[in-house]
Order: sequence, then C-alpha cells, then structure tokens
Amino acid sequence: MNKNFESFLKDVYGKYRLDLSGEISQAFPALSEVDPDSFAITAVTTKGDVFSIGDDGLEFTIQSISKAFSFALALEQHGALFVESKVGMEPTGEDYDSIIKLDDKNRPYNPMVNSGAIVMSGLINEKEKSSREDELLHYFSSLAGRSLSIDEKVYQSERDNGHKNWAIAHLLRHFNILTKEFQATLDLYFKQCSISVNTRDLAFMGATLANGGINPKTNKRLMSPENLRHVLSILFTCGMYNYSGEWAFDVGLPAKSGISGGILLIIPGIMGLSIYSPRLDRRGNSVRGIKVSEELSNRFRLHVLDYGGEPLL
Ligand code: GLU
Repeated sequence: MNKNFESFLKDVYGKYRLDLSGEISQAFPALSEVDPDSFAITAVTTKGDVFSIGDDGLEFTIQSISKAFSFALALEQHGALFVESKVGMEPTGEDYDSIIKLDDKNRPYNPMVNSGAIVMSGLINEKEKSSREDELLHYFSSLAGRSLSIDEKVYQSERDNGHKNWAIAHLLRHFNILTKEFQATLDLYFKQCSISVNTRDLAFMGATLANGGINPKTNKRLMSPENLRHVLSILFTCGMYNYSGEWAFDVGLPAKSGISGGILLIIPGIMGLSIYSPRLDRRGNSVRGIKVSEELSNRFRLHVLDYGGEPLL
C-alpha cells in the first residue's frame, strides 16, 4: 500500500474523529441502537493489500449498499437486456423511498431507489438446493471473501416498521410489476438490507468491483466485465441519494451509500474503500464519509474524468 496514502488516511481519520456533526438514522428502531461516534476506514487494493483504521471489526447492517450487489446478481442471473426491461437507469431527483415514480415503460426509475431495488430482489432466482435468500447471502459472502449473515434484530425491526416499503411493494403489485409472491420478495429485500458487514467486508466487495469483477482475496470472478460496467455506471449516477450529481461533480467516483452510515467507493483499477460513521447529513449520507471522500479524491486526483493527469495513487 502506498505510504503517502496510508498517512493521508491516518490524518483524515484523526481530523474527522473530532467531528460529531450529523444525526443517526431514525428510520426504524433497531437502526438507531448504534454508537453514533464509531468511525472506521478500510482500503483494499486490487492486489488484496489492506489498510484499515478505527472500528473496522464493528459490524453494522449493509442497508442500501446492498442494492449495488443485488443489481449485480440480477444482471449475472438474467443478463442486462432482461434486467433493463424491468428497471430504468435514470436518476430520480427524489428521495430513495419515494412513492412511487414509474417511467413511461412502467419501470421504477433505477435499481438504487427502493422501488427498483425491490424489483431486483424479486429477480433473484433460487437454485436447485438453495433458496433465494441463500443465493443472495452466498453471493454477498463471495464478494466479501467470508461468510456473512443476517442481523435478525434489524431485519425484524425493519420488517415490522417499514410501512413505506410495504406501500411501495403493494403499488408494484398493483401495477403488475411484482408477482403474487410480492410479500416474499419484500421480505428478501428486508433481509438483504440487514446483512451484517464491517468495513473490511465492504472494502473487499468494493475491491472486487475495482478489480474487473474478480475478488482479490479468492481470485474468483463474480461479475462479467459487461455487468461490472453496468453496476459502476449506476453507482456513478445514482449511488449517493439526492447528492449523486454533486458527488459526481466533486468526488467523481462510483460509490454507494447506506442509511446505517456506510459509504463504499470504487477507485477502478486501484482499490475499494469503505467508510463507516453513522452520523448522517440531511440527505442520508455519512457526514464524515462525505468529507473524507472529498479530501481523498482531491488529494490523489481520483475523479474518473480527471483527464488532465494520472491518479497519484
Ligand atoms: N432498508 C432501508 C430501506 O429500505 C435502506 C435505506 C438506505 O440505506 O438507503 O428503507
């Protein structure tokens, strides 16, 4: 790992550890039972080198960051043509859980808003001896390079309190976008959001995306190059809630955020980098996560459209 980069991460970690601005999510009860001041950053290069600082063993639920990988699994199982017939690829400019905006082809706008992500969960196929839930967990575990599990308490809290998501699922059923088994699909979506990870797991998941779809720990290919390109494109345009445009302008990296306080950044060809800090800004992004990402991108010239020169990493 580049020494300048390691000392940069130590410096920004020390600087922003003191920043206690923002509020933890109150979206449902179990989500607010976390230490608001936790903070961790992990980087994993495409060679599998790891640099990590802070509470990097602390587990939290993956929440919306899961949408990147359920979209990837749907693409792997069905191909882009079929997936695109079910979901659009257009930013909404609306809240991630807004009810319900469909495009002129009767599709949710994109796979990173809840309606689109629920449709993606509905596409996950079971295999002969494994359920849809097993398939999803197996895929996420392969990306992290270790066996992941569902946080039952968060899952139940989200299932019992996620009335807006129930409303979205009912509307998707009403429009015949989801099938009769829509309750099971929504249940799978809640479970997918409740998968426990730490920043090391997320950084390996990101490193797989940075590494052409091959996990640098296990050397297994988990995504075709075409599907990887589709996933990274959507993360670039829609990954950071209603901040995605400004993020593309300022940071310029494919990324995904979740309301538990995680942000996953992909630096293509170089590394996956994850940040966990549960205090959020008004758009639902980790306050410290945004600040670290902006400094990182500027300091090492990582914006993917920075055509003027090579990245400094
Ligand atoms: N499980 C949350 C929901 O569906 C995820 C929200 C998020 O992280 O953006 O509302």
